[in-house]
Amino acid sequence: MTETIASTLTLNNGVAIPQLGFGVYQIPNDTVDGALQDAFAAGYRHIDTAAIYGNETGVGAGIARSGLPREELFVTTKLWNDKQGHDSTLKAFDRSLRQLGLDAIDLYLIHWPCPARGLFVETWKAMEELLAAGKIRAIGVSNFRVQDLETLLAETEVVPAVNQIELHPYLQQEELRAFHAEHGIATEAWSPLGRGAVLDDPVIARIAAAHGKSPAQVMIRWHLQLGNSVIPKSSTPARIAENADVFGFSLPDAEMAEIAALDRGLRTGPDPSTFGN
Ligand code: NAD
Repeated sequence: MTETIASTLTLNNGVAIPQLGFGVYQIPNDTVDGALQDAFAAGYRHIDTAAIYGNETGVGAGIARSGLPREELFVTTKLWNDKQGHDSTLKAFDRSLRQLGLDAIDLYLIHWPCPARGLFVETWKAMEELLAAGKIRAIGVSNFRVQDLETLLAETEVVPAVNQIELHPYLQQEELRAFHAEHGIATEAWSPLGRGAVLDDPVIARIAAAHGKSPAQVMIRWHLQLGNSVIPKSSTPARIAENADVFGFSLPDAEMAEIAALDRGLRTGPDPSTFGN
């Protein structure tokens, strides 16, 4: 079947997730509805928000206003660090569900491991209860390191469906991606465009020019071909559409290898070992 913006990855519990999603970090609550209508018009059906983004009510309004059938949409939200713990997770989940105006969340993630706080196992067990109750279709984590995933696998029942991590050509996360592949965990890329830094890379620019595409389109294409779920963010209508227009071309192996060689372990966001501790 031809690959399109509706193409999905199958998570380890059988749930399908559209591989390309729309990230809404830093889109204000009062404008996110409009950005979502642009995204829906461009074909996106997967939305990535979080309690800490402060825009869940706006996302909920946008979903309601779109008139799209609920089953066509895939909605991810995330539990913020100060809500880790059993009872606080259940409460925070209910709040997110209410703010989004939904009956169930497609994917609920622990936003950061905060390893020194030692609460993510207890938090995960609460998420397993919500999954069993049918309030979430899949549960996952974000910013987990290999050792955090090993702890979860050893001490809990459900293998995370997803680990959403910072991932772009300057931070390729090979060790984590290999661990995910070995354990059936989908890799989801946040800051897939490297928050600007990588957009000016000369190798990416040359590959983009050769295809008559933009650097952003080449990077999204690279993620798709690696098998990552990818959630670029923009609030500019032309860029929202541009980032969705990535299915009419492909990168040959030689170009995939050139991009692989750009890795330099460059984090643009916080370090999961210390953030939120
Ligand atoms: P991104 O890589 O998607 O975008 C970076 C910047 O590139 C944006 O500011 C945008 O202005 C610009 N841009 C977008 N499209 C462009 C285009 N076609 N041409 C030129 N510039 C373009 O970075 P992001 O917003 O940090 O990450 C994407 C999503 O990932 C977020 O919206 C959020 O949903 C998620 N995220 C998750 C975490 C986490 O801890 N789990 C952290 C950060 C972001």
